[in-house]
Amino acid sequence: MASKIYQCIETIGNRIIEQKEFLTELDREIGDADHGINMARGFTEVLAVLPKDSDNIGEVLKKTGMTLLSKVGGASGPLYGTAYMQAGKVLAGKTSLSPEDGKAVFEAVIAGIQKRGKAVKGEKTMLDAIIPAYEAYTAALDGGAPAGDALDAMCKAAEEGVEFTKTIIATKGRASYLGDRSIGHQDPGATSATYTLECIRDFVKSI
Ligand code: ADP
Ligand code: MG
Repeated sequence: MASKIYQCIETIGNRIIEQKEFLTELDREIGDADHGINMARGFTEVLAVLPKDSDNIGEVLKKTGMTLLSKVGGASGPLYGTAYMQAGKVLAGKTSLSPEDGKAVFEAVIAGIQKRGKAVKGEKTMLDAIIPAYEAYTAALDGGAPAGDALDAMCKAAEEGVEFTKTIIATKGRASYLGDRSIGHQDPGATSATYTLECIRDFVKSI
């Protein structure tokens, strides 16, 4: 039987692949119409090469990151590749996860994306979904909420973050070439990041 970590990555990969055209359309409006194509290609390869039965969470995430790094072009390949590799590093040696592990993963993922891409919140990138999601997740857990509620708060904040990207100017990545013409369009990377978080929430709640 496929391990839980494989099933989780499979859920994410299938969602990204299923949303390939929509993500590409979003990138057509403010980029070069390849975000969905890039991400779907990467996850197709990830699902082909990952060991299905390994429950070594760190190893599986690391391999996911390395595969995305080598197979996905553009800005998103190195950024998502780094995110999964950082998550793998934090979870090295683990075979099960706690809500606190989730916080540590978020922190390493955000630091890794920022180290590579030099973006901060408010530049119309994937970080406009990921950072508010982290803040909401952490605030909920720190306030004593059960893990399921913290995951719901995380997704709600990511979805609001995607909406927020419609209202701001892109100052990083290809969309920044458009200047204020990028206003009115939602960021493709923030959208794929939100799908990822929703899949993680749904998967964790299902087990
Ligand atoms: P490219 O822009 O090279 O064609 P993609 O289309 O696959 O790559 O990905 C575009 C997405 O990458 C954007 O929607 C944005 O969310 C994200 N992105 C671009 N540059 C950065 C950055 N410096 N930091 C964080 N995310 C970024
Ligand atoms: Mg693109």
